[in-house]
Amino acid sequence: MSTNTDRTIDVEAIRRDFPVLERKIYDRPLVYLDNAATSQKPQCVIDAVSRYYAETNSNVHRGVHRLSMDATSAYEAAREKLQRFLNARSTKEIVWTRGTTESINLVAQSLGRSKVQAGDEVLISQMEHHSNIVPWQLLCEERGATLKVIPMSEQGDLVLDAYEEMLSDRTKIVAVAHVSNALGTLNPVEHIIERAHARGVPVLLDGAQATPHMKVDVQALNCDFYTVSGHKMFGPTGIGALYGKEALLDAMPPWHGGGDMIKSVSFDGTVFNDLPYKFEAGTPNIAGAIGMGVAVDYLEQVGLDAAAAWEAELLEYGTALLNGMDGVRIFGTAAHKAAVISFEVRGIHPHDLGTILDREGVAIRAGHHCAQPVMEFYGVAATARASMAFYNTKSELDALAAAIEKAQDLFA
Ligand code: PMP
Repeated sequence: MSTNTDRTIDVEAIRRDFPVLERKIYDRPLVYLDNAATSQKPQCVIDAVSRYYAETNSNVHRGVHRLSMDATSAYEAAREKLQRFLNARSTKEIVWTRGTTESINLVAQSLGRSKVQAGDEVLISQMEHHSNIVPWQLLCEERGATLKVIPMSEQGDLVLDAYEEMLSDRTKIVAVAHVSNALGTLNPVEHIIERAHARGVPVLLDGAQATPHMKVDVQALNCDFYTVSGHKMFGPTGIGALYGKEALLDAMPPWHGGGDMIKSVSFDGTVFNDLPYKFEAGTPNIAGAIGMGVAVDYLEQVGLDAAAAWEAELLEYGTALLNGMDGVRIFGTAAHKAAVISFEVRGIHPHDLGTILDREGVAIRAGHHCAQPVMEFYGVAATARASMAFYNTKSELDALAAAIEKAQDLFA
């Protein structure tokens, strides 16, 4: 597939690639604005997964028979696609995982347990998803280390002066979101990385919400680890990856033990496999990896720059629309944001709002978005969140606003 280098996209043509967008919900057209939870899948991804099971299904890296060789080639070709997509130096730096959650746990358990000692510190931020909090809490509890939290401002920006003061000789790793799922903030990760590296501290970026929206170049960022989730970037669920710099991954002990991550096993000891297989124990999600490779092709065909430009327009339009409504308050107003609008409507609990919107065919997320510390910061239990993808339209945002007005009438 060719890469779209135009600055514009044909949204109507793109929508036809996503069969679920044709669904009616309670006899109304589906308006899917829950893309930060998971994005919809284009037909080419759906086809690739079912074609794999129909034509190639077999285990990888084991068989001498044709099916197994075909499955292995397709699985490894998908890894190469992801390597190119993230601009990693080598496929040794791309470890397949179940997604961002598993990728972060891998780093916390492998690098963390070998590097972090009593009295050390791990730095995360106030706007992290629970999956970039809890693995570090578990590690810190086990090691007697301290989890330190970079604060954020009312707008939803990280307070960088505080960050720099928190970095010390005790800091063993910095782990922050590239893009916040709860607020949409695009964090100044280049600066964060540069300051950490000045002290020799490695940085993990949680990229779950970034890769669906923007071109990510791990070499240009110079991050040490980067995590992705296939299902957020138009690929299947249950597949994702960890990017890690080869030297770091090489020095890290294995995490899960089992088949495929070994060269030889005897009761006297085990010789571990080379990268990236050292971290890939057991039969992997082969169909998922292949589907994710096709999602990468699809994203390149759509063109991430063009998609980002369209999403920026949607964000501006949606923000102006909601800001113009009585009783609507938006959380997270950072200057650099992905197309995520977290909001509340005065007098209506977000869960009630979500249910009323659903009856209008509008799917949003209502809850704490697995980022309870963000909710605590704003003093709310939950927010409503509309999160967009490049297949969304301004008329869908009009439908969101109309549905909110209907909810307001019901609660008036
Ligand atoms: N981090 C962020 C910022 C997220 O938005 C999510 C998913 N909501 C995750 C981590 C967890 O990703 P996954 O569920 O795919 O492991």
